[in-house]
Amino acid sequence: MAERDLIEQLVIALKILPSVGPRSATRMAYYLLNNEREKAKYLANTLLQTLEQVKNCKRCNNLSENDVCNICVNLKRDATRLCIVEMPIDVHMLEQTQSYNGKYFVLMGKLSPLDGIGPKDIYFDKMLERSLEPEVKEVILATSFTTEGETTAYYIADILRKKGIYVSRLARGVPAGSELEYVDINTIARALVDRRHID
Ligand SMILES: [Zn+2]
Repeated sequence: MAERDLIEQLVIALKILPSVGPRSATRMAYYLLNNEREKAKYLANTLLQTLEQVKNCKRCNNLSENDVCNICVNLKRDATRLCIVEMPIDVHMLEQTQSYNGKYFVLMGKLSPLDGIGPKDIYFDKMLERSLEPEVKEVILATSFTTEGETTAYYIADILRKKGIYVSRLARGVPAGSELEYVDINTIARALVDRRHID
């Protein structure tokens, strides 16, 4: 009986993953236990180690093994450009395009008035402070093209423009309603290059 409970627990744990329903979770659990015990151990250890050692960069919130991430400390990167994204995975996606050499700031969310998520619930004040650092000459808004992402972009643009900051937004190549993580790399790269000034 005890074993059965643990297997059920594993299935419940696997269901934490996005797009994993009860059936896939069950299949995964039995697969790991029957065929791939060594690999399952590797998976468990890697997950634990990553959880222990990877944190959010103190400066930009990106995921990092150090207090400040490699992008923030890299002097070869263009400090005059600051790209604002919703989540650390967006930094990863933009880096994959190899068409951006500036810095980032991760909001850790987006404004969603309907769900009661306002500026206080994301790193809005820290973003503002970072954007107003003297070396920043352009802020690029790379929030998603969902309703909330657009709301967030326009809210930030409005405030930064009033403070005299040059603000741009990813071009419309990215399909409406999209999170960056589901958009292909070439489309993101083009949207970045074709970004438009918000005036
Ligand atoms: Zn950083």
